[in-house]
Amino acid sequence: MPVYRDEAVVLRTHKLGEADRIVTLLTRQHGKVRAVAKGVRRTASKFGARLEPFMVADVQLYEGRSLDIITQAESLGSYGALITADYPSYTAASVMVETADKLTESEGSLQQYLLLVGALRSLSRREHGAGLTLDSYLLRALSMAGWAPSFQDCARCGTVGDHSAVVVQLGGIVCDDCAPPGSPRLDVEAVALLSALLTGDWEHAKATPERTQAQATGVVAAYTQFHLERGLRSLEHVSK
Ligand SMILES: [Zn+2]
Repeated sequence: MPVYRDEAVVLRTHKLGEADRIVTLLTRQHGKVRAVAKGVRRTASKFGARLEPFMVADVQLYEGRSLDIITQAESLGSYGALITADYPSYTAASVMVETADKLTESEGSLQQYLLLVGALRSLSRREHGAGLTLDSYLLRALSMAGWAPSFQDCARCGTVGDHSAVVVQLGGIVCDDCAPPGSPRLDVEAVALLSALLTGDWEHAKATPERTQAQATGVVAAYTQFHLERGLRSLEHVSK
């Protein structure tokens, strides 16, 4: 079958020649796909507008020898404009697509696709605040990739309890016996917020004071950086 159809979210785009663009898509069923969109930079192309970062589209592709060719794109969620209009949302979405891109380096998954589309939709609707939405997305995306943090029992020995030391290299919260000397400590509220973000308990998360949110954001950023080795460039621009 040289032609196929799928739903996809646009992760990033690159210029190609005079008028074309290479579009990196995370698709629902075909994993990550790099494809060419022809003529999209020539005029105020509607086709091109549907293939901007953060957009979700129903796309039809033609299997090419090296890169596939996008022949049709119908918008399923025009989150792009709504997200780009708000700077905190824009920076949060930029970190999300970059993270999704890295986490699906070898292969995409339906779970990662659905999580990303849900988070972008939520951002475009300004449901929970950009910072909380991003932190929750990162914790869940990393968990799906096999790096689930622990914010309750000790991440190293499993001892049940209310621990306060956080060591991202060990997987989250650790007990006093496992914590290396000088480990950073978190407030009880910050630990509870991290758990809430991981499970999607928005009522709890949104009721948390900003100072606590900032503590949690620091942990999520450190945890994400640690697991994505090379680090996410866009994370540096997220306003704290
Ligand atoms: Zn322990």
